[in-house]
Amino acid sequence: MSEQTAGVQALTLHTITEDNWQADLRDSIRSASALLNAVNLSADDLGEHERAALEFPIRVPLPFVARMIPGDPHDPLLRQVITDRAETLPAAGFTEDPLEEANANALPGLIHKYKSRVLLMPTSACAVHCRYCFRRHFPYADNRLDETALANIINYIKQNSEINEVILSGGDPLILDDIALDKLMTVLEGVTQLKRLRIHTRLPVVIPARLTDVLAERLQTSSLNTAMVIHCNHPAELDASLIQRLRQWRNRGITLLNQSVLLSGVNDSAETLAQLSERLDDAGVLPYYLHLTDPVAGTAHFHTDDTQAIGIHRALRAALPGYLVPRLVREIAGETSKRVVS
Ligand code: SF4
Repeated sequence: MSEQTAGVQALTLHTITEDNWQADLRDSIRSASALLNAVNLSADDLGEHERAALEFPIRVPLPFVARMIPGDPHDPLLRQVITDRAETLPAAGFTEDPLEEANANALPGLIHKYKSRVLLMPTSACAVHCRYCFRRHFPYADNRLDETALANIINYIKQNSEINEVILSGGDPLILDDIALDKLMTVLEGVTQLKRLRIHTRLPVVIPARLTDVLAERLQTSSLNTAMVIHCNHPAELDASLIQRLRQWRNRGITLLNQSVLLSGVNDSAETLAQLSERLDDAGVLPYYLHLTDPVAGTAHFHTDDTQAIGIHRALRAALPGYLVPRLVREIAGETSKRVVS
């Protein structure tokens, strides 16, 4: 993951235009000591944090830190981004590529797992480094999307006529500025077999200012059916300012969905997840999937077992109308779609 910054620089389409959100990005916290200091906490052993950060550095934007509760070492937002000694310990069954994405990495910058849709990774960079990330070991250095790689991907799509949807993933595609995204969308809009463009992003959750008017208008006017899937895990992530911005996008007719990951010590209770769905509803965002964690090396401390997960989901169904209950799913290497667990 130390390749992430280099990865975004390699994208030749990228044009720097400083905006508020980019200042938030630039000023992100990048060490455990700074993060703990910002929330009035101290560490027993900073060396443990530094060891865990060697492979996957800390990165947390200040607008996300501002939503943490000062002095609470168990804050659910802090837990998602603070290094933990457990990351450095081996755990049986947890591997670097449990989803076997290497087998689906059809071309640099492209993953083709499911028949009608492909994942295009315009960047390896993220605004926040989530400690539970399932791509924390992904070979981003081999997946830089320069203009040649993009041309090869477009040819690949044209040669596979069943592909009708491109999913921008990463990394976080909204790291690209609006000019770069416009250029990329224009290229994709030129492929007549494509019907849909989906953007998966956590960036607006950690830096709400990323929801710019320019981007909203670009999505609204696209010839493709567009949807933005945010990745929000806890109701405390949805403060009033983020709810208001999302609601504005929804009022403009932009399809907004949410995916969460069920994370031990963060959101592993029906009450918390029900609150999350309620706030998503306030923001005009439909809860879509609740993912079980993938067995990725370094993330075992976030794992919940299936029995607990199914029990939580059953209680969630009892608490909410059906359209606010995300499907509980898991991804299994080689399967033709996500598997619905409950
Ligand atoms: S934003 Fe997504 S890809 Fe980036 S570190 Fe977090 S979980 Fe991983």
